[in-house]
Amino acid sequence: MDRPDQTTHFGFRDVALDDKQTLVNEVFHSVARRYDLMNDLMSVGLHRVWKDIMISALNPPKSDAPFALLDVAGGTGDIAFRAAKAAGPGFHATVCDINIDMLDVGRSRAAARHLDAQVCFVEGNAEALAFPDRAFDAYTIAFGIRNVPRINLALREAYRVLRPGSRFLCLEFSTVDMPGLDRLYDLFSFKVIPPLGRVVTGDADSYQYLVESIRKFPRPSAFAEMIGAAGFSRVKWQSLSGGIVALHSGWRL
Ligand code: SAM
Repeated sequence: MDRPDQTTHFGFRDVALDDKQTLVNEVFHSVARRYDLMNDLMSVGLHRVWKDIMISALNPPKSDAPFALLDVAGGTGDIAFRAAKAAGPGFHATVCDINIDMLDVGRSRAAARHLDAQVCFVEGNAEALAFPDRAFDAYTIAFGIRNVPRINLALREAYRVLRPGSRFLCLEFSTVDMPGLDRLYDLFSFKVIPPLGRVVTGDADSYQYLVESIRKFPRPSAFAEMIGAAGFSRVKWQSLSGGIVALHSGWRL
């Protein structure tokens, strides 16, 4: 993704690498308040199932043994809350996101769930994490990496902050290859999601970006290679819902 000409994609548009983050930040600033509702509507609730599959793969300890999760691009806290629910009393999650509006919604949700002690929210960029080396027992990123301009940098940072013997997990939209489903999915993506975004959030453009950015994201095998290139071992992936989503994982050994 770090191309020598210093351009990248923002949806179907070519933009300067340094401009992408500003545009992405505008998207999440615009939709933050209605982000969770919109997730439910446009995935017809499926994002909950995909996230639960990620948490099962994470399998946080149920004991009081300390376990520190870093959830990057964690937004409104969904992954951290689900992991906290599945884990024992030794669990702690740090939700790191570049967007203060998304984090504010997450903080309110954590307070409402009485999870303030187990989940904290930190503003930060996936490309340059302000955490020491080898500080975490697991790194998760859900529907986040596609938005990061320099994916290779984010993957290297993930590797840096993980303790040896710990796991990287990435849930992301992927490539639908199933004949029939691909056409239906394209129709739903381009004809339903942006108009739905307009009704629910008042912003169709942000959801047009979403569906376009999914088409520009690397295929699962290419993304797996990028994870391996960042240093991770035993990289694998699992396609979910006909390829709508993929769960990639790797180990820092
Ligand atoms: N993980 C959450 C979930 O699954 O509901 C939120 C995903 S949301 C689609 C993408 C998030 O990525 C946004 O909250 C956005 O602010 C964040 N993001 C985008 N670029 C980022 C970056 N460079 N570093 C950290 N977070 C970033």
